[in-house]
Amino acid sequence: MSEERPQAPQANGRSQGFATRAIRAASTIPPVDQVPTSVPIYQTVTFGSLDAVELGDVLGDRRPGYAYSRIDNPTSDALARAIAELHGAEAGFCFGSGMAAIHAALLSTLQATDHVVVTDALYGGTHSLLRRVLSRYGVRSTFVDATDPGAVEAAFTPQTRLLYLETISNPTITVTDIGALAARAHARGVLVAVDNTFASPYLCRPLELDADLVIESCTKWLGGHSDVLGGAVVGRSEFIARVREVQTDTGGIISPFAAFLVLRGIETLALRMERHSASALTLARFLEEAPGVTRVFHPGLPSHPQAAVAQRVLRSGGGMLAFEVESREAAGALLGALTIPPMTASLGSVHTIAVHPPSTTHRQLDAEALRAAGIPEGLIRVSVGLEEIEDLITDFEAGLRAARSAVTA
Ligand code: PLP
Repeated sequence: MSEERPQAPQANGRSQGFATRAIRAASTIPPVDQVPTSVPIYQTVTFGSLDAVELGDVLGDRRPGYAYSRIDNPTSDALARAIAELHGAEAGFCFGSGMAAIHAALLSTLQATDHVVVTDALYGGTHSLLRRVLSRYGVRSTFVDATDPGAVEAAFTPQTRLLYLETISNPTITVTDIGALAARAHARGVLVAVDNTFASPYLCRPLELDADLVIESCTKWLGGHSDVLGGAVVGRSEFIARVREVQTDTGGIISPFAAFLVLRGIETLALRMERHSASALTLARFLEEAPGVTRVFHPGLPSHPQAAVAQRVLRSGGGMLAFEVESREAAGALLGALTIPPMTASLGSVHTIAVHPPSTTHRQLDAEALRAAGIPEGLIRVSVGLEEIEDLITDFEAGLRAARSAVTA
């Protein structure tokens, strides 16, 4: 044991007490001359500036930097820059969930009395945000079939400020002709926002098709492992500056740890999406031939209603598919017999996830509303994971046998 005792730090000629030394010792960062090869998790709320003038300038956005992690944080910023880069966007900002990102995108573009034209094949949370929340603040929405450009055009009014689309939509895996609709919207001075969650930037980059803002739920393919919530908005700097303003006042920023997990997911996005797409297409082809299956929807199938649009807009078919069995009972029996997918309701994961939209994601719709929305009672939506495709086919074969027994019983 050394005889030498460490010197207690001095401040103003006085030895510091234990509590002061503990706080200072535990927050001293060692000098790092080498650049880390992964983005560090900046698990701190506050950042120290050189002096009060610098702190004021950083907080007031008069100079770049970090001061308080609700406003910005280097790990969250690294993720925003990565997603902006993948989309070819000037800028981006990341949020604690996809819904927080959608909320900020809508609040940054809309004000009372504005009108939004929205695809009717829309994520339920976004539907609810427009119908239940923003309507109370004077924002009016018209829901249209976005596969029909004439219907979209007819819905525009002089008050229309925004056209809101999804690249690939629930639950029948509709594909949107973003470029054609953006041309019609811009001719009227209407902005275009696209939720690209089902596609991911690997399959589609809506800004290249003339969209103004793109939203991603990072919870899905970008994170990819069902273990992190996050969202992003990317686009031109002028739009993202407004998104940042809304976020500073509402506080929906992604946490540094969540941002780190999404960054880690992005490193394998291309590999995962290729495998998700290939497996989904193989499963879709199997289902097309399987007894008891009425229809199959996957953008890579020639039978898909927007097959030609999908060829133009998407790099490959992606990991989402849907198929129809005879009835709600048959769908229930099929899902109950599957052994690989966990009984849960998300998408974009290493795990295959199969859901019955009429009783889960679209449970608010009664039989008539389902018919009007073109959603069959026996529809099953599958987010195809990274398991061995042969195992998945065997599992769905068993599920289909259970569905047929339920029908004949
Ligand atoms: N957009 C789409 C198309 C979704 O399917 C979801 C969630 O399922 C969201 C947005 C919302 O994402 P989050 O759950 O990260 O808030």
